Amino acid sequence: MGNADFCSRFPLEQSVPKELDLDCIKHINFSNECPIDFNDIAKHTKTDSFLQQIMTFIRKGWPSKIDKHFANIFANQCDLEINEDCLIYQDRVIIPQQLQSEMLRLLHASHAGIVKMKQLARRSVYWYGINADIENFVRECDACASMAVHPKQKIESKWTPSSRPFGRVHIDFFYFKHHVFLLIVDSYSKWVEVEWMKNGTACTQVIRKLLAYFARFGFPDILVSDNGPPFNSHDFKTFLERQGIRVLNSPPYNPASNGQAERLVLTVKDVLKKLLLDPEYLHLELVDLISLFLINFRNNTMTMDGFFPSQKVLAYTPKMLIDLINPKRHSNSNTVPQTNNVNRNDDIFVRSNDGLSKEVHNDPLDSLMAGDALWYKNNNPHHQAKWIKAHFLKRMCKNVLQITIGSGLTTTAHRSQIKIVNDRDGKSASWKEPDHRISRIGKGRVERVWRSMASHGVRRGNERIISKRISFILTFKK
Ligand SMILES: [Zn+2]
Repeated sequence: MGNADFCSRFPLEQSVPKELDLDCIKHINFSNECPIDFNDIAKHTKTDSFLQQIMTFIRKGWPSKIDKHFANIFANQCDLEINEDCLIYQDRVIIPQQLQSEMLRLLHASHAGIVKMKQLARRSVYWYGINADIENFVRECDACASMAVHPKQKIESKWTPSSRPFGRVHIDFFYFKHHVFLLIVDSYSKWVEVEWMKNGTACTQVIRKLLAYFARFGFPDILVSDNGPPFNSHDFKTFLERQGIRVLNSPPYNPASNGQAERLVLTVKDVLKKLLLDPEYLHLELVDLISLFLINFRNNTMTMDGFFPSQKVLAYTPKMLIDLINPKRHSNSNTVPQTNNVNRNDDIFVRSNDGLSKEVHNDPLDSLMAGDALWYKNNNPHHQAKWIKAHFLKRMCKNVLQITIGSGLTTTAHRSQIKIVNDRDGKSASWKEPDHRISRIGKGRVERVWRSMASHGVRRGNERIISKRISFILTFKK
C-alpha cells in the first residue's frame, strides 16, 4: 500500500466504543530488558528516510511542489511536530518501521482485543497502517486464538448509575486454578480489587478484607453481593450495618442482579487465562498475574463515560510504560509544577488548619545564600564543641539544607540542627572567607559553576554577592 493512503488512515475522527470492553492492554515489564523510550524512537527515526524527509519539511518549510507520496501528509502538516527528535502526530508518537513490531507487542501485552489495542494506540502511537497491523497481530496470537472459542456472555445490569466513587460496591467470589478470590468493584469508577482468600471464605476473613478496602476508600453506602454464604449470614450483615452500610443481596438463582461483579469476574478470569498461556509470563506467580491485570485494568480500561478507573479515582494519572515513548509526556512528568514547590515543605506546623501557609516570621535561615557561614550542631560525642563551623550550600526543601562542614564534607541538616553565625553572639556575621579569586578563575569557569549552582536550585541575584559565593565554592572544590 502506497503512501497515498496515508491520510485515509490518519484517524481524524476518533470514536470510543461505548461498552466497557473486557480487554485491557497496558504493559508492565517483567523482563530484564529496558522498555522502549523516546530516545530509542528518536534514534530509529534518524535512520527512517521517509520520516526524515517529513522532518526536513517541518524544519525548513514545505515545498510548493510536493511529491505525491507526501501529498496527504502535507494536508495534515498542522498536526505534525517534532519533539526531542521524535515525529509527533496529534500528540501520538510516530513509530519508525524498525520498532513497530516491538510496539505491537507492547500494545498487546495483556492480550487486548483489537478494539482496545486501537484505543490505546490512538492515545499514544501512530504509524502508517497501524490498524491493519494490529488486526493481524491479534489474529496471529496463539493465546488469544485458544481463548476465543467462547462468545462473551452478556450480563445485563439494572442498577442506577452511582454518583460518587465507592458509594456502591459489588463483591463476589470466584474460583481460579483451585484458589478462591474475592472481587470488589466500585460501580462508579469500575475500580477493581482482587483479594486472594488464602485463609478461606468465612465471614471473619471476608470482613477483614473489606475492612482493609474501607480503610483505603472509605465506607460505601451500599454493598451488593449474591445470596450465598457468608454474605447472607447474620454476622456479615450486622457488621456492615453497624458501619452504616446497607447490604443488598441479589435474589437467589439470579446472580446476574450483581451484574457489575459478575461481569468483571468473567473479565478477570479471561485475562488471567490468557496471561497463563503467554510464554512471556511463564515465570510469574498467579499473584503477580493478578497485579498485572489490575495495573492494566485500572489504567487502561475505559468506562462508559470515556475515563479510566484510575482517572475517576485518583487525582493524578499514573505513569505507564507506554508513556516513556512520548517525549512530550516525559518532559511534562519531569517538570515539578510551580504549585508543588509550596508543598515541598516537610514541616506541617507552618500550615494552619485552613491549609494556608503561614510565614515563619522572617527566619534568617530562609534567606541563606550559598556560602553563608553557619553553626552545625555537633553529634559526635568525641568532639568537645557543641557547634561546628559549616557553610550553606543549597536548600533541599524548606527545612532541610545541604551544608559543607570541616574540610568540605557535604551533608544535609535539618534547620533545627543549624544556627546562623550572628545568632551565636550577636556580633560575628560570617566566617573569615577565603580571598576573592574571581579574577583569577576567569569568567568561563564562573559561568560553569553558575550553571552547576543553578541546577541545584541556587537563584541568580546580586552579581557582586554571587561572585563572592562562587569564589568561595571554588576554593572549596580545590
Ligand atoms: Zn493475545
